[in-house]
Amino acid sequence: MYYPEPITKLMDSFSKLPGIGPKTAARLAFFVLNMKEDDVMNFANALVHAKRDLTHCSVCGHITDQDPCAICQDTSRDGSIICVVQDPKDVIAMEKMKEFRGRYHVLHGAISPMDGIGPEDINVPDLLNRLKDEEVEELILATNPNIEGEATAMYISRLVKPSGIRTTRIAHGLPVGGDLEYADEVTLSKALEGRRDV
Ligand SMILES: [Zn+2]
Repeated sequence: MYYPEPITKLMDSFSKLPGIGPKTAARLAFFVLNMKEDDVMNFANALVHAKRDLTHCSVCGHITDQDPCAICQDTSRDGSIICVVQDPKDVIAMEKMKEFRGRYHVLHGAISPMDGIGPEDINVPDLLNRLKDEEVEELILATNPNIEGEATAMYISRLVKPSGIRTTRIAHGLPVGGDLEYADEVTLSKALEGRRDV
């Protein structure tokens, strides 16, 4: 192309981000060229540190810079209720709502036979171990309201039910096919309030 190589590399990097097409990548790359050197260094460091210092909580699977994560360490939270979600971003959405005081379990995906993703490929075995070790009374299945999310909720519910732990599914005020993380706080709060036994 007509660009010097460093710019091409920068554009390639930006275009790997979600929702960034070639035009936006070029705009961002040129924007960076005009930034102060300090700001560019801070930006680069933030990227590297976020990647290097964050890990998954060995208890719940949420992203954290300390293990166990702050939520798992918080003794004021109710350990008898675990909210099962697909993605760390769902935990953040739930926490923004400020109503849920239980704990979480992050699956890092959903069961999808079409894509060859089974229960062993997501964080289900760890969940079952937690249920053995912890005094859990209710499992709120807050996987996404789409085919994979529903299948995952059903699978976990069937697996857990014989143990006597209550399994509930968040209500559908959530847009079908949408992701939990995009739901606004009121919708999410209603969905949680209206959960039903499954
Ligand atoms: Zn945790």
